[in-house]
Amino acid sequence: MKIAAIRTYVLEHRLETAFESASMRFDRRVHLLVEVICEDGTTGWGECLGPAGPNRAMVEAYSAWLIGQNPLETEKIWATLYNALRDQGQRGVSVTALSGIDIALWDIKGKHLGQPVSMLLGGRIRERVQAYATGSFKRDGVDRIEDNAQETAQHVAAGFHAVKIKIGFDPKEDLRVIAAVREAIGPDTRLMIDANHGYDVIEAVRVGNAAAQYDIDWFEEPVVPEQLSAYREVRDRQPIPVAGGETWHTRWGFAGPLEQRCVDIAQPDLCGVGGFTEARRVADLASLHGVRVVPHVWGTAVQIAAALQFMSAMVPDPVRNRAIAPIMEFDRTHNPFRQAVVTQPIEHDHGWVSVPDAPGLGIEINRDALREFAPKG
Ligand SMILES: [Mg+2]
Repeated sequence: MKIAAIRTYVLEHRLETAFESASMRFDRRVHLLVEVICEDGTTGWGECLGPAGPNRAMVEAYSAWLIGQNPLETEKIWATLYNALRDQGQRGVSVTALSGIDIALWDIKGKHLGQPVSMLLGGRIRERVQAYATGSFKRDGVDRIEDNAQETAQHVAAGFHAVKIKIGFDPKEDLRVIAAVREAIGPDTRLMIDANHGYDVIEAVRVGNAAAQYDIDWFEEPVVPEQLSAYREVRDRQPIPVAGGETWHTRWGFAGPLEQRCVDIAQPDLCGVGGFTEARRVADLASLHGVRVVPHVWGTAVQIAAALQFMSAMVPDPVRNRAIAPIMEFDRTHNPFRQAVVTQPIEHDHGWVSVPDAPGLGIEINRDALREFAPKG
């Protein structure tokens, strides 16, 4: 079995209403899919987290090393591609592009062996995963407090057991949002706050201490991801568990934060950390340090399928009766191609998402949608 070609697909949709996190503004949804095609006609699909243009350029750069390789040799290929850019590309787009390729190779491996990726990772410990709703960005032209309260109440009405909201804009206003959302969702729904590294340590410590009364599950990306001692200080000086990791790439990217106990919850992204091959190692590292893993998910159904396959096979830590089950990030913001890219949308049912059981990622790509959402002009 040999790799014959690599193709990339940029998907784009211009939003009618732009929205913001603390550190990014979204006036379009743009994602990049990767297709690896084998000589026998088998194809595998992957997705890269982050900017589509640079990811596409990097995937194309890797193609020269990939053509003619055996796609089943995922470890060998991962090590070869990583080493090709080790001196200049230990994190960033070099790794997010590698992630999309690695996911496509595992999709091929599963299809070749007639097994879902979750089986190749060691077995389907769970057939469905409970999802939490991510949303509550700052939208243009509306009152943020009222808007976030209304939106999160809708998620609860739709069956979600947990919601995550965006903070990191302004500590005082953020605290008013948190209070309004807790009021709107009631005492029994889990609530997480995500600052998208919008605060400095002083602000994060103040917000964490003031927000703790609202029963917050975790405080995500309180400070910028490179400031490990700042992460540690936030963790030490306020009571809410700290989460982070969507921008930490590879096992080496997670080693420092885990060793220095910067986070209570590690959030590797399958499409950013280095694909299945590397996410497995990061989960093992987290287990070494007693840190919970909740993968980050921000993409199309290709990424959602990858996350589901991974989470299906995650071993409970600790193993016990009524074990702690991983929960799945489920983006609820507007993105018309998120599910259109697959022939069978991966939707939730009262907050639960089934893990596809067909070979590979368990999805079939809708090529009409790839054409429909290709950038125009
Ligand atoms: Mg986040």
